[in-house]
Amino acid sequence: MLVASLAGVIEVVSKAALARLRLPHHHDRMADFLTPTDLVGKLDVLRVACTKCERAGRYPIARLIETIGPNANLADWLSKITADCPRKIKNSYSDQCGALCPDLPKVL
Ligand SMILES: [Zn+2]
Repeated sequence: MLVASLAGVIEVVSKAALARLRLPHHHDRMADFLTPTDLVGKLDVLRVACTKCERAGRYPIARLIETIGPNANLADWLSKITADCPRKIKNSYSDQCGALCPDLPKVL
């Protein structure tokens, strides 16, 4: 009787351990890169601002999903839309383009 319930406890514990082991792997794969889908329900508009240029853009998430796709890599997209920044073209390490998405730290 005791042995049976112990086995039951061990089974429950090992299942919980397995679930914990699986979760991070799953999460890592999801977090490989940020996609427009990740922002649905968190942001309506993704703002892009450069701390050095006068650049400031507003990109509705719904439009992003239409134009670059729901699973596009937002980091790639950001570097594409900022490719014309004078500082990017110069490719200077001491004076890099400061383009970023100021809303992301609030929602991630
Ligand atoms: Zn810039």
